[in-house]
Amino acid sequence: MAKNVAVYPGTFDPITKGHVDIVERASKLFDKVIIAIAESPNKKPMFDLARRVSFAQASIAHLDNIEVQGFANLLTEFAKAEGANIILRGLRVGTDFDFEFQLAGMNRQLAPDLESMFLMPSDQYTYVSSSLVREVGRLGGDISELVHPDVVRAFNQAKI
Ligand code: ADP
Repeated sequence: MAKNVAVYPGTFDPITKGHVDIVERASKLFDKVIIAIAESPNKKPMFDLARRVSFAQASIAHLDNIEVQGFANLLTEFAKAEGANIILRGLRVGTDFDFEFQLAGMNRQLAPDLESMFLMPSDQYTYVSSSLVREVGRLGGDISELVHPDVVRAFNQAKI
């Protein structure tokens, strides 16, 4: 039987426990999940690609069917090259939907064989976003419940 391989793309600047919640759910549903971290220079990420990859690897070390990869090309091309058949995204609140709807439409236009699928995190993570974590972390707020300890350490070091 063909394997179901899901690519979970995003900027992951940095990866949060909300992202990890989605990955944990996906790891039970799909044979393999690839966390695909977009270089996204246009978003001017706080953490460079190598650090975002390393934070993601540390965050999913407890799962065995997950890979982490950086990418800088078109998502649909990356997914095809990896043999993936699913694009996975997370949905938190209603406002995520409009953007995700557009993105899924565009990806379907580019690659009709790739199916977009969406998972919702536990309630406790519906308000968590990388941008809020960056804002709170930069101002010295406690983000330890929201991210892996490596990410907390990176924020602490950035303040010195
Ligand atoms: P992007 O820049 O592509 O939006 P993100 O890293 O912000 O990348 O998010 C990647 C995916 O993870 C998106 O589908 C986003 O909706 C989802 N996501 C982000 N935060 C959470 C969370 N707390 N719970 C569930 N899904 C989330």
